[in-house]
Amino acid sequence: MELVTVGTGTVAPSGSRTSACHWVGRGNLKILLDCGAGALHRLAQFGLPWHQITHVVLSHFHPDHWGELPMLVYALKYTTVPARQEPFVILGPPGVVRLLKKLADGYGPWLLDPGFPIGILDVQGGEPFPLDKDVSLETFPVPHTQESVALSLTAPEGRLVYTGDTGPSSKLARWAAGADLLLAECSLPAELAMEMHLTPEQAGDLAREAAARRLVLTHFYPPVENSDPAGKAGARFTGPVTAARDGDRFTIGGR
Ligand SMILES: [Zn+2]
Ligand SMILES: [Zn+2]
Repeated sequence: MELVTVGTGTVAPSGSRTSACHWVGRGNLKILLDCGAGALHRLAQFGLPWHQITHVVLSHFHPDHWGELPMLVYALKYTTVPARQEPFVILGPPGVVRLLKKLADGYGPWLLDPGFPIGILDVQGGEPFPLDKDVSLETFPVPHTQESVALSLTAPEGRLVYTGDTGPSSKLARWAAGADLLLAECSLPAELAMEMHLTPEQAGDLAREAAARRLVLTHFYPPVENSDPAGKAGARFTGPVTAARDGDRFTIGGR
């Protein structure tokens, strides 16, 4: 599995970090974990074959995590030549179907019927959801908003866990146990800590408690960016730590 951190920012406008979006590619699967503002242009900038996206998985309903999803469907509808035939699947915690229906009330019926098959499904926590014969998605509730979940993708070669937005959670650490790559939010420095987000130190604690093999930090608000987040997380976790930038690439497993 390949991971590209397409957008490592938040809702805070930034010239270097767009809102949350992470690309996972493996064979024919091309998955976005969240689809925040700026994602489409970043996908083009990084040369990722966004016309071939098969799935978008949302972690929660804050707009810095889904705001560009209608744009993506619109772009697939009007700029795919020849016209897209392949199905496009939108997954998320319970409520994602309702969210898309409400959005279609405003944007128009094309959002639910763009001219290619579109599937929108609420994923129930604790039930592995197969994306193809090798890769399955799981979700796990996290303390952020009522619907918020962490996401994991498990393939024969390894497991990727993405926290989405979360506060500290020992339950999340247990669920993430043994992750080959833990992609963790790292919103704020310790002096601005909040219950619904992680500091670098808390992201490091999460990686240590989960015994993850590697920690990649994302979702940086500007105050945390220049505070050496990788160093601070690395003081709590002995494995490799990377403070991701938009466009960084990682491999999970031997592929
Ligand atoms: Zn966020
Ligand atoms: Zn959020």
